[in-house]
Amino acid sequence: MLAPYAANPENSLGRQHQEPPSPHRNAFQRDRDRIIHSTAFRRLEYKTQVFVNHEGDLFRTRLTHSLEVAQLARGIARTLNLHEDLTEAIALAHDLGHTPFGHAGQDALNDCMRDFGGFEHNLQSLRVVEKLEQRYAEFDGLNLTFELREGILKHCSIKNAKQIGDVGLRFINKTNPSLEAQVTNFADEIAYNNHDIDDGLRSGLITIEQLQSVELFVLQLDIVKSKYPKLEQKRLIHETIRRMINVLVVDLCTQSAKSIAQLNPQNIQDIRQAPYLVSFSEDMMAKNHALKQFLRKNLYQHYKVNRMSAKAERIIRELFTVFLNDIGLMPHEFQQYAKEDRARAVADYIAGMTDRFAIREHRRLFAVEEYL
Ligand code: MG
Repeated sequence: MLAPYAANPENSLGRQHQEPPSPHRNAFQRDRDRIIHSTAFRRLEYKTQVFVNHEGDLFRTRLTHSLEVAQLARGIARTLNLHEDLTEAIALAHDLGHTPFGHAGQDALNDCMRDFGGFEHNLQSLRVVEKLEQRYAEFDGLNLTFELREGILKHCSIKNAKQIGDVGLRFINKTNPSLEAQVTNFADEIAYNNHDIDDGLRSGLITIEQLQSVELFVLQLDIVKSKYPKLEQKRLIHETIRRMINVLVVDLCTQSAKSIAQLNPQNIQDIRQAPYLVSFSEDMMAKNHALKQFLRKNLYQHYKVNRMSAKAERIIRELFTVFLNDIGLMPHEFQQYAKEDRARAVADYIAGMTDRFAIREHRRLFAVEEYL
């Protein structure tokens, strides 16, 4: 039941390097399989979003986050008759370029790279799948389809867009990506807003009392409380969050289906030329925004999170300085990259690290009693 305006592997704009098609998988399935087999994908297990990886076994990592995004995105794609395999593949790849230590790491690395073209995790995800993964005899990267690479690149400055070829064009021409990519962006947002509430409550950094100011949460909490007055706290939270996710997903599907029907697109080119069609209703957009504001103020800027972020920034900065001054301290392949672009090679090496690897590497380089 693929909609005529969905991405279709048979009409894919293709891969950067010609390859014979797979006999049993469509092009997007093949993309997804390549992503799952990549080194960068496995590293997501030890990279964080908000909490640092070793802080607790129950918190989300970038791997479990990506799986949640894929699962939500796939459900939404099915409802809207879009290509599920492409949506899933974009979701699994969307965070591949993230640095260790979440946003703190990204900000620190971007700051270090200020005089060398900056660092942007979104662009780095593209760099990982186009260049840094080394698995195939005939090409660098994973040689993914245009549709997959288009979906990974959520935002991009005009300056960078001019340097990255085909997938940069839409930022210059101000057009939009496939609906599969649009769905994944929203699934990402729904996933992290909700799992951050869950992780925030579990860690004790935020409380149910504080969340009384968040309409999206309170509406569902009250429904659960009145239906199950004796429910224990843990189940109360899970039941509330699962309902929040559901409300957001249903609203997104309803509103997006309406916008698509209004435009009546005939093919994927109509989608690319049209305004962004996937969205929440206005009411839900406001509620979702309030939830994000709450999380920013109370969780992402909590003093305990700030302390960890400050440490993370110091580690990234010190690693960057030490490698930039002496590229001979990096593994051989990055020394090779450094011949083309010294600072970028250092950024590539650091961005690929997991949280715990960055901590160990820092110790190996700075603590006198450590060897190797
Ligand atoms: Mg994400």
